Amino acid sequence: MAENKRDYYEVLGVEKTATKQEIAAAYRKLAMKYHPDRNPGNEEAVEKFKEASEAFDVLNNDEKRATYDRYGHAGVNGMPGGGPRFNDINDIFEAFGGMGGGFADIFGDIFGGGRRGSRSGRPPRGEDIRCVVDLDLREVAKGVKKKVKIRRKEVCTTCNGTGAKPGTAPETCTYCGGHGVIMQGAGFIRMQTTCPSCHGSGKVIRQPCTSCRGSGLYDGVQEIDVEIPVGIDERNQLRLVGEGSRSPKGGEPGDCYLNVRFREHPVFQVDGKDLICKMPVTFTQAALGATLDVPLLDGHQDFKLPAGTQNGDIFRIKGKGLPQLNRPEKCGDIVIIVTIEVPRTLTDEQEKLLRKYAETENVNVSPQRKGFFKRVAEYLKSLGEETDSEKK
Ligand SMILES: [Zn+2]
Ligand SMILES: [Zn+2]
Repeated sequence: MAENKRDYYEVLGVEKTATKQEIAAAYRKLAMKYHPDRNPGNEEAVEKFKEASEAFDVLNNDEKRATYDRYGHAGVNGMPGGGPRFNDINDIFEAFGGMGGGFADIFGDIFGGGRRGSRSGRPPRGEDIRCVVDLDLREVAKGVKKKVKIRRKEVCTTCNGTGAKPGTAPETCTYCGGHGVIMQGAGFIRMQTTCPSCHGSGKVIRQPCTSCRGSGLYDGVQEIDVEIPVGIDERNQLRLVGEGSRSPKGGEPGDCYLNVRFREHPVFQVDGKDLICKMPVTFTQAALGATLDVPLLDGHQDFKLPAGTQNGDIFRIKGKGLPQLNRPEKCGDIVIIVTIEVPRTLTDEQEKLLRKYAETENVNVSPQRKGFFKRVAEYLKSLGEETDSEKK
């Protein structure tokens, strides 16, 4: 990859002896010309822009420039924390105020004042994070206070978030003069964009803190208390303002977006706000009707199964399902789906009664099993074999 790269001085069109001001001026010119916002859909321009940004990134940094002068591309690519900062197009957009913003955003800054974040030199906001918490259905129905473990970036305690080695301090960015933003443009239209050298912080770190490698942050785990509202469901997302990653430069923290996951319930399946319960009943209960003991999320309740219930029939116990979010008085139902179970074995008494019942139905039923097995046993005996039932 490195061998295909053009020389950084050539890219910017400056002499090897160029001053920082000359390098900055050359870059500014190229950035204006090839800025993706000015060249929509132009791949070549994007490449040029990327190339120029990378060249500037290296040549604007004394240390990187010295290494580059000595070892070429290979030298700066291998440098810890160094090398080209703009690895892909997103990084470039980021440096110029965020993806998808484009011209409208840039004009917004000129005419409408800055937004939050690194624009206008304000410290960047911490990143948003996500987390998931498992809930029992009863917790969903009642609401619950949960301790939730979250992973987020915390401010490095070694450097207090400056990212600079203790004893050193970040230096003012020479490219933007510490403003974090640069003005670009010709004529009366001037575009304000985030400084690509310091990414808007206005500072440049020469000697990075070894604990956080200059980021000012470390990966931490926190346990926070979260009030889970009644009736939340798996499609909802709770936004916990300020519980996201910290900002190293004293900016606002990000937010934490929390999703819930329902634990499997031994009896109920969740269907929206309804709770489905597959209820086994005997064929006599189905035929004759019965009072069933139906489980609820919180206890149980009698339910009158009507005579003549069919397999798959559905009954609802109104208002005993899950509550709606923000309207806890409105609840779904418990939905009973009847499954009729046919006994696998019968006692002698039961079989006699059923056969008697079958006679009234005037249908063809299988021969009496007793008689059948007895005949099998006799048959085997005549062959000189012993049957299992006789051994016992
Ligand atoms: Zn640090
Ligand atoms: Zn700067």
